[in-house]
Amino acid sequence: MSTQRTLIRNGHVVTADPALGTIRDGEVLVEEGKIAAVGRDLGVTDAETIDAEGGIIAPGTVDTHRHTWQAQLRGCCADLSLQQYIQGFWADATPSYTPEDAHLGTLAGALDALDCGVTTLLDYAHITNSPEHADAAVDGLAESGVRAIFAYGLGQADIFAPPAYDRLADLRRIAAERITGSGLITLGAALSEIGMAPISTVAAQKRLADELGAVSAAHCGALWSQPNGITQLAAAGVLDSRLVLTHATTLTDEDWKLAADAGVKVSTTPESELNMGAGRLAVNAVLRHGLKPTIGADVVSLNSGDILTPARIALGFARWGEAEPLNRQGQDVYQVAIGAEQAVDWATINGADALGVADRTGSLTPGKQADVIVVGGRRIGMRPVNDPAAQLVQQAGPGWVDTVMVAGRIVKRDGRLVGVDLDALLARLEDSSRQIQERMAATAADKAPLTPEQIAAFPGWIAHNLAS
Ligand SMILES: [Zn+2]
Repeated sequence: MSTQRTLIRNGHVVTADPALGTIRDGEVLVEEGKIAAVGRDLGVTDAETIDAEGGIIAPGTVDTHRHTWQAQLRGCCADLSLQQYIQGFWADATPSYTPEDAHLGTLAGALDALDCGVTTLLDYAHITNSPEHADAAVDGLAESGVRAIFAYGLGQADIFAPPAYDRLADLRRIAAERITGSGLITLGAALSEIGMAPISTVAAQKRLADELGAVSAAHCGALWSQPNGITQLAAAGVLDSRLVLTHATTLTDEDWKLAADAGVKVSTTPESELNMGAGRLAVNAVLRHGLKPTIGADVVSLNSGDILTPARIALGFARWGEAEPLNRQGQDVYQVAIGAEQAVDWATINGADALGVADRTGSLTPGKQADVIVVGGRRIGMRPVNDPAAQLVQQAGPGWVDTVMVAGRIVKRDGRLVGVDLDALLARLEDSSRQIQERMAATAADKAPLTPEQIAAFPGWIAHNLAS
């Protein structure tokens, strides 16, 4: 068997590896799915060549929070608040998905991610209505070719209906039968919504995830009307570096001290948080407490599936967050507080670290798997390239992602996904979307509105869950 060698040349290499930095007019050599060398004039003459055409060669981006299954409902949440999303959209959408819909949504969502240059994502799969739905989602991820953490939705819709089956037992089944070996998909656990299940339940989920070697993820601290549960998670002994807290916009300084002491990971989803009224992005607090920002796309039912765009929004927001106290005192900013290159790390290596896969992806470090993107090239909006790292995060759009490679396998080339029958896929998506929305409308019509008594009882129920 001949050695598979690919040389990506004629670009500017943003490595996201502090020891290598950015290499202008550089090359990346890929051998047998791994990064073999990074540098200038590597002297390779016997490899297949990809011409970056003066563009940027970078690690594939890493998404630490995405509900991949929602691909059929793209754009449906454009004007929804977070409460409307939870009580209306999510409550109606999830029971309206068949296993086939879960498969198709996850496949299409993962392909969208790849198209945008996202090579690794945490799939927060709260579409686990049944074991068949869980299998379907894993199948969708596997077929797409993306590197993924399949975070099994353990609290799927339990706030609206009791669980229909033993999800912890099914997580064990998935771990034993579906996600084994050293493939692209690894195991995660999407814990019950904090405050909407007893903390003891959440803690038991986290302990099982730990036992199975799975990363845990939890929605936490995005609703201002309820406690965020950080104190209770810490007291239960499950606030640690194997937990990705998503959103975390309502945390107090005391909460952040607990989170920082625990070395917890934080996923910020700039587009959904800012649009849905979840508050200020946590990025400034994360940095202030010595933690590492990471970025998630969250929901394509609202925003794009890209990660560079929300990283850009987070950078602008974080700079504003540092400038604002000065501005309010009538002072100007003379030195921006956060460099653009840092935001490249948020979108790449920090995410890989949070998801426990930094040993294999997140930077163009020789020896790691070759998850590589080529962005820009012969594009008026990206040339000249005067600052490759800054232009990657400040200027690149997902449509300018020319080439995408996962573990050395080319999944996008010349701006097109490879091996995807796009017409057939789009037809299936449209059809599935229509059927899901018909079922959603029926669910919504059948649903009794919450009574004033139920609404009044809500804070007490949350408090009881956090105490038990
Ligand atoms: Zn989410």
